Amino acid sequence: MITGGTYPVRELVQSYLDRADFVVAADSGVETALSYGISPDLVTGDFDSLSDESILERFDAGSVRRYERAKDETDTEIALRLAGEAGADHVVLVGGGGGRVDHLLGIASIFERERHPDLWITDASAVRALGDETVEHGAIGETITKWPRNTQFFSSPEWIAIAGVPIQTVGQEIVTGEQYLAYLRQLVEVFELDVRTYEPVAAIEGRAGDFLVRTCDLAGEAHEYRARTIVLATGDMNRPRRLEVPGEDLPTVTHYWSDPHRWFQRRLLIVGGRNSAVEAALRCWRAGVKVTLAYRGALLDEKRLISRLHLEIDLLVRNGRIGFYPLAEPVEFRPGTAVLRGVSGADASAEAARAAHGGRARVIEPGSTVEIPADFVYLATGFEMDQSLYEAIGITSEGPELRPTHDVATMESNVAGVYVVGTAIGGNQRGYKVFITTSHEHCLRAARAILAAVGGDSSRVVDSWVGNHPDRDYPLSSRDVE
Ligand SMILES: Cc1cc2nc3c(=O)[nH]c(=O)nc-3n(C[C@H](O)[C@H](O)[C@H](O)COP(=O)(O)OP(=O)(O)OC[C@H]3O[C@@H](n4cnc5c(N)ncnc54)[C@H](O)[C@@H]3O)c2cc1C
Repeated sequence: MITGGTYPVRELVQSYLDRADFVVAADSGVETALSYGISPDLVTGDFDSLSDESILERFDAGSVRRYERAKDETDTEIALRLAGEAGADHVVLVGGGGGRVDHLLGIASIFERERHPDLWITDASAVRALGDETVEHGAIGETITKWPRNTQFFSSPEWIAIAGVPIQTVGQEIVTGEQYLAYLRQLVEVFELDVRTYEPVAAIEGRAGDFLVRTCDLAGEAHEYRARTIVLATGDMNRPRRLEVPGEDLPTVTHYWSDPHRWFQRRLLIVGGRNSAVEAALRCWRAGVKVTLAYRGALLDEKRLISRLHLEIDLLVRNGRIGFYPLAEPVEFRPGTAVLRGVSGADASAEAARAAHGGRARVIEPGSTVEIPADFVYLATGFEMDQSLYEAIGITSEGPELRPTHDVATMESNVAGVYVVGTAIGGNQRGYKVFITTSHEHCLRAARAILAAVGGDSSRVVDSWVGNHPDRDYPLSSRDVE
């Protein structure tokens, strides 16, 4: 949506247009759109701010929705409503900066309504609407708080220790999410870290040397912080990757699970075939759940799975203990059942799928559907990164995984003074390469670059700032990790 007022630079607008299916211009927004070489799909408003109304003659009559000057809605509200009627599910509002205070207040108040833009960018600032998923964020180790109970890390404790503080456990075992959260709480206390929990960053304004960070706390109160430098470590698991099929929002269908107890002696369909899906299948089966797995791939691939998981799942599918539909995708969830459709395999043929796991996999003809019993469904379909904050401040993304653009030597993004570390640099990674184990180094690089940029002594940054106790630290290449 392009509205009246002052605007961001053409390049920033273009980055949104490249992904837009539909462009609406409100009132004098049409002049800006045309000056930027954009032809809106729809123009609307009372057009009282147009310098020359003949500009509207360039559009078909069906693309112009004119309203009276005396009306209950502002031109921006009308455009928002029409965008909603056209089916928009993500609205970026461009313009409306500077200029008239009444317009500014009008747009600001839209954010209090049910239908509001997801992002508003002007020449000087950007405002992002907080979605439910952002408000959920907020405890120390938030991502790990969402893991199922008693989930074990696959990495050894020495690979996931941070700040040079070892993770000691009673039995020297691999740690669980709960143990790691306790370790994180301890680090916060020992290092007296000032973490403002439950206070998501809503917007970042300004530039290197003088940023203004706006947040909103649990009580809905707004806060502002000034910063010379910003490090974004916002992770890559901000929301589940939805399948967008009917029934996905049924109360019996979930992207998260906590405890197999809830599904004891019930029929559970797990969608997915990577580590999370297989681990859930094994744990639930062991707890007395009747488990079926459905996966787009042709087989539960030993190259992609942790070996102990592969050994067990192969054995249980071979023995008919866990049902397995390869080359299958769900097309609908109904109370008590799920509809699966056969797909053509990209990585192996249907023959290979039939031959795998002792010939016990149930292959559906490509395009055909079967309805299977499923009291509950767990969708282990992965997670996505929420990049709206990145987009709002002009951080571009690269490649099919939409990795935030950054200099690997310094971790500085394409926006000066804003650094990106941790899994956030991986974007929507498919084959996981960036995780805790491979992220320690980011912090050192960013710390050195930041100190150098602000005139500090970067030689003060020592390797023991990250990773494990020095006695039990050893270099680990990405190849070792894989
Ligand atoms: C089941 C499972 C097992 C795993 N096992 C391992 C393992 O063995 N080894 C390993 O290395 N990795 C493992 N991982 C991956 C690991 O969880 C991640 O690598 C790790 O959490 C990434 O850390 P991070 O700090 O980059 O991001 P996160 O842990 O995702 O932290 C990002 C933080 O930013 C916050 N945030 C986001 N947006 C905002 C905002 N706008 N304002 C304020 N805060 C915000 C979030 O709330 C969150 O707390 C596993 C993951 C899963 C799901």
